[in-house]
Amino acid sequence: MSTTLETDICILGGGIAGLWLNARLRQLGYSTLLIERGALGGGQSVKSQGIIHGGTKYALNGKLSSAAEAIADMPERWRACLNGTGEIDLAGVRVLSQHHYLWSPGSLISNLAGFFASKALRGRVEQVKGKQLPQVFADRAFKGKVYQLAELVIDVPAVVQRLADLAGDSLISDSAPHLQRAADGSIEAVRLQHHDIRAQRYILSAGEGTESLLGDWQQAEPAMQRRPLQMVLVKGAQLPPLFAHCLGSSPKPRMTVTTHPCSDGQWCWYLGGELAEQGASQAPDELIAKAKRELHELLPWISLEGTRWTTLPVNRAEPAQSGLVRPDTAFVQPVANALVSWPTKLALAPNLSDQVIAQLREQQITPRASAPDTSELARPKVSAPVWDICFP
Ligand SMILES: Cc1cc2nc3c(=O)[nH]c(=O)nc-3n(C[C@H](O)[C@H](O)[C@H](O)COP(=O)(O)OP(=O)(O)OC[C@H]3O[C@@H](n4cnc5c(N)ncnc54)[C@H](O)[C@@H]3O)c2cc1C
Repeated sequence: MSTTLETDICILGGGIAGLWLNARLRQLGYSTLLIERGALGGGQSVKSQGIIHGGTKYALNGKLSSAAEAIADMPERWRACLNGTGEIDLAGVRVLSQHHYLWSPGSLISNLAGFFASKALRGRVEQVKGKQLPQVFADRAFKGKVYQLAELVIDVPAVVQRLADLAGDSLISDSAPHLQRAADGSIEAVRLQHHDIRAQRYILSAGEGTESLLGDWQQAEPAMQRRPLQMVLVKGAQLPPLFAHCLGSSPKPRMTVTTHPCSDGQWCWYLGGELAEQGASQAPDELIAKAKRELHELLPWISLEGTRWTTLPVNRAEPAQSGLVRPDTAFVQPVANALVSWPTKLALAPNLSDQVIAQLREQQITPRASAPDTSELARPKVSAPVWDICFP
């Protein structure tokens, strides 16, 4: 027989969006339950590069788009959290790099004159030379230019773990939560294997899984889009740390490299950018061959001997836009007694929480329920880092 748990807010999906929001709402006194059908962070979040963007990569054409404006405050908000003075206490969570960089391999910089002339970017992009250069570029063979961005790179699995720790007893594991539709089209309850959950508001933050939750609830809107990537992973003991967008001739980075710790002490270079976008439909072997050629051309002094290679196909899930373009900000849309959300960027999780909290205030949803007893319920695990999953 199923029993009913009453809560103020029921969140579906425990990626960065759901977990961040859960932590914020609990601080505000709301009782919350978060249902995760797999591993916490195991969707896009732990597969992300962990760059807390300040919008620079969206301004490579010299214009500061609304995406760049919305995201501009995010590095400072995350830094405050990581210092223990922000809205969520992430003190002690590993920062992989205090800076992300832009690197131009040669004379291409002239194509980006508008970008460097842009007033809006002043103070956010600074050329580094000599001793300030990251170790990987400190080679006589390097002829390009390097710019330091006001952006940082975080260890996402560690953030997910901290947010799970802050969630107390609010996390529930269920492999197939079902949204029960009421006669008026709203959500009556979330049906789990042995329990029903009733809430004042339901937040759909299940990443790619939000589409099937909406289908389950018989809601056609808002529509979702997937933008596929095939990331390339290179693992080796001697890889130097590299956190940088490599500039190409288009307004998108030719390649974006981040470096992540594997549990055996080795390092993994995680290659994204245009390489992964254009590589989405390529056979893994072809894409690996291309990535090897690119790295050999761009960083010929770095030895890749003895490294292991693989690829990871993954979709970015976002609200549908015309022409599969990138949405500009975190997305939150009220639908009956639910809010449907996609952060569109890991960095924008705080912005998504702001929007949800503003909606709850506007709809006069205040904390009412006491925390339900979930001590008997299964808890979701935190996902293993993707570099360990991909190189078992
Ligand atoms: C390769 C890659 C690199 C990226 N790099 C960056 C970056 O460097 N910086 C940045 O800001 N952004 C980056 N992004 C984007 C960022 O990762 C995503 O925008 C963000 O992680 C999405 O978080 P989310 O919580 O919405 O979704 P997810 O992390 O996908 O989490 C959704 C969760 O919901 C669960 N779920 C699914 N269906 C259900 C269901 N029916 N019931 C309950 N739970 C369910 C899933 O198991 C999952 O845990 C990257 C994305 C990709 C793919």
